[in-house]
Amino acid sequence: MSESNTLHWQNLSREHLLPPFSDYRELNAKGARIITRASGVYLWDSKGNRILDGMAGLWCVNIGYGREELVEAAARQMRELPYYNLFFQTAHTPALELANAIAGIAPIGMDHVFFTGSGSESNDTVLRMVRHYWMTKGQPQKQVIIGRWNGYHGSTVAGASLGGMKAMHEQAGLLISGIEHIDQPYWYGEGDDLDPDEFGIRVAEQLEQKILEVGEDKVAAFIAEPIQGAGGVIIPPDSYWPKIREILARYDILFIADEVICGFGRTGEWFGSDYYGNAPDLMPIAKGLTSGYLPMGGVIVRDKVVQVLNEGGEFYHGFTYSGHPVAAAVALENLRILKEENILERVKAKTSPYLQKRWRELADHPLVGEVRGLGMLGALELVKDKQTRERFPGAIGMRCREHCLDNGLVMRAVGDTMIISPPLVINEEEIDELVTKARLCLDLTARDAR
Ligand code: PLP
Repeated sequence: MSESNTLHWQNLSREHLLPPFSDYRELNAKGARIITRASGVYLWDSKGNRILDGMAGLWCVNIGYGREELVEAAARQMRELPYYNLFFQTAHTPALELANAIAGIAPIGMDHVFFTGSGSESNDTVLRMVRHYWMTKGQPQKQVIIGRWNGYHGSTVAGASLGGMKAMHEQAGLLISGIEHIDQPYWYGEGDDLDPDEFGIRVAEQLEQKILEVGEDKVAAFIAEPIQGAGGVIIPPDSYWPKIREILARYDILFIADEVICGFGRTGEWFGSDYYGNAPDLMPIAKGLTSGYLPMGGVIVRDKVVQVLNEGGEFYHGFTYSGHPVAAAVALENLRILKEENILERVKAKTSPYLQKRWRELADHPLVGEVRGLGMLGALELVKDKQTRERFPGAIGMRCREHCLDNGLVMRAVGDTMIISPPLVINEEEIDELVTKARLCLDLTARDAR
């Protein structure tokens, strides 16, 4: 495709498209980058550039791009039954088979799924579901959900309120009522001179303080991502989850693990909760469920919660596309590929150790204050001074992101934290390319910062 084609698409973008999470003035001045096709771990743009997708789209293309089996599954299902819904006591076979397949990989005792169209809808669903649960149990005053500052649970009104992104709250007049937040376990950014484990315990203890402040009789649930993704790949210190489990065991509240990013193999286990040995009551899912080939989400629900819901009369909640048959058929095929090709085993035994070893080599770069990573996730903290952790003035992360795109790599910037989450099928040679390009872009960013 030629330069003039690119200009044509960029003009259409200016004239007609309002894309999500974009600064429109900046975008209109610069012009959108137009992505035209993809295969494996690579994207191509309208100028013919090949770009290694270090973010698996938006943390979702777990099996990589271009899998014909998913295309075939979608086409077959479209011919058979392109649409029907699950409302008013009906079901269809793709949703039933998918719910059964998900129950087969979910933690023991989590055997039911409520389907949605996205991660945000999944988090709207948990808010409605846990409040309905406590009302059915005769404790309607248990309404408050505790989330974490800088957590991300989506962009709908409930999702953004459960999340702790202050800029999102300010722009929309959020929070909705009955939501509280505690600090995140972000040691590099907020741990000061505490040792990581000491810091992990200190922030975990805020959960107990918040429960006591609000009153146990008013708290419905605690929601958290096993690893905060959009907040900057924040991997909690080792002490954090054991302490949270200890606190949750003392109080009668539900635990919601938002598995939208960690689910379906990102840590090398099916769910981040499996990796950490957590036992949530509800798990919102999306993204890797279909590897992003079609939009679909859901909430996996523990049997003890389902038993109460069974007594609660009609649950006045659902979406036209809950359990969409074509998305369900694609998800089933995606799960089959993840299982039959032993993708999680390969991540655990080979590619994650290799990625983490190579990624950590970037620690010697003058701009990098901390390198962290786990499974197929990674983060780099860009700093001016490694000793004091002082940041650069201005948006150095965005500069680095631009250099990456110009040099054939998608790496995302969250402030001055550069993050990666490549497709789970990335191989060692592609990991080498990712790390080499990341280093080159750090060099170019360092040159700009001088
Ligand atoms: N929850 C988490 C942890 C996420 O990372 C995201 C999206 O990035 C969401 C929820 C929202 O998902 P969606 O964008 O599909 O609504």
